Amino acid sequence: MKYERIRNFVNGSFVNVSSPRTLIITSPTDGTLLAEMPCSSATDLDEAVKAAKAAFPAWSKTPIKERVQVFFRYKYLLEKNLQELAALVSEENGKTLGEAIAEVEKCIELTEFATSLPQLITGEVLEVSKGVECRTSHVPLGIVASIVPFNFPAMVPNWTIPNAIALGNCMIIKPSEKVPLSLNVIAMLLKEAGLPDGVFNIVNGDSEIVNAICDHPDIEAVSFVGSTKVAKIVYQRATQNLKRCLALGGAKNHLLVLPDAKPGMTAQNVAASMSGCAGQRCMAASAMIGVGAVDHIVQKICDEVKKIIPGQNLGAVINKESKERIERYITDAEKQGAKILVDGRGVIVAGKENGTYVGPTVIDYVTPDMAIAKEEIFGPVISILRTNTIDEALVIENANPYGNAASVFTENGGMARYVVDNASAGMIGVNVGVPVPREPFSFGGWNESKFGVGDITGKSSIEFWTKLKKSTTKWNPEEGVNWMS
Ligand code: NAD
Repeated sequence: MKYERIRNFVNGSFVNVSSPRTLIITSPTDGTLLAEMPCSSATDLDEAVKAAKAAFPAWSKTPIKERVQVFFRYKYLLEKNLQELAALVSEENGKTLGEAIAEVEKCIELTEFATSLPQLITGEVLEVSKGVECRTSHVPLGIVASIVPFNFPAMVPNWTIPNAIALGNCMIIKPSEKVPLSLNVIAMLLKEAGLPDGVFNIVNGDSEIVNAICDHPDIEAVSFVGSTKVAKIVYQRATQNLKRCLALGGAKNHLLVLPDAKPGMTAQNVAASMSGCAGQRCMAASAMIGVGAVDHIVQKICDEVKKIIPGQNLGAVINKESKERIERYITDAEKQGAKILVDGRGVIVAGKENGTYVGPTVIDYVTPDMAIAKEEIFGPVISILRTNTIDEALVIENANPYGNAASVFTENGGMARYVVDNASAGMIGVNVGVPVPREPFSFGGWNESKFGVGDITGKSSIEFWTKLKKSTTKWNPEEGVNWMS
């Protein structure tokens, strides 16, 4: 194994996991055995919760302007350790180093936002009757949990860590069992930044520990990011146990391309959106709906896609099962009559024969009834569907159960506005392939891409990570009793 056996991070130190059950972590890029990861049990979770509970009184009572000082230092440490962290992200996840660097840069931006929280959570105060003042304040919840997926080993954890902790909570985070290494570096950076022991804790494991988190009586809130199937399980289990829960799920993002779209720019955006991070992004373009005569744009998309080379500017998918699943979708679509314009099946990268690569794939004449048109593929594959009108395209987009993102490519402002207004997705782009709202705008989809109220980042996350206290004060007894007292 390249790295030491993985341990949990509890009360500021790495500690052994009590359970004997282990998984092996392998690099998707070349099959290198990276580490052995023990799966924590409920007993290991108890230890982490105990540490978080001990840390909570002092941390929650520390003024927020002091708490965010940790995140100013953490931001600096992310910048200082960017290359090292990005290399680890790339190694365990399979994305290219350039993509991993962009991921860490996004962590820096998320942290920057957290440092602005003192400016954003000032409460309201008003003299509501003569001499009587009402005031609101955002109060930390207590011990909160964050359960994260494999596709962004550093960024998705940083959707929750800086905001939840700067707002005064203590956190238990459960990394994906496929990519547990990057979070260890993040733990060390938080400690070096001066975060008190016990405020941030890592519990490694799989579904067993997720269930234990949802059931733990001392955890107040659970955030989850992953597939819709598991988002539903977590949302139902956590809320059944009367916890606050925000669960982000999978996606099937549609790009609507109109004949007047700028061909070069559209092709570059479509190709980058479907292939970035090997298509393993919840914001990846998965289905393109060509409205009317768009063959000239499809041709340019194929030209762009052919410049994307596995092992060079295209990373690996997470594992063999994923590669097989993606290739199965392509083969099934072909059997059902779709036309493969660029075929990424059967790719082997020289020198990385044990890597799990799928080449970029463009499939035309996909029909809405095919599985590849409806389901999340999570690979570098774009299915092209054809309609005559924008309304037919919107019917297809609206019918999909997911609702993370959608984009329209056109030069016509009225058409663009029509799609923005009528697409059923939480994040919409106009001539933008990956319409991720940058901070301070919040991230979150609709429909089966998210369960719970509010979004996970930006200003919206303040409501999720805090509870509102309303206080009414009167210091002037001469005013006597008013209508409400
Ligand atoms: P996943 O749902 O398999 O796993 C996510 C987390 O849930 C992991 O920590 C895993 O250990 C845990 N888990 C897995 N199965 C479980 C079960 N049966 N019971 C309880 N916990 C379980 O997701 P993944 O494969 O790691 O990540 C890819 C998925 O995440 C895609 O569907 C992608 O769209 C989605 N995703 C969504 C967003 C978003 O913002 N909506 C962002 C990133 C990823």
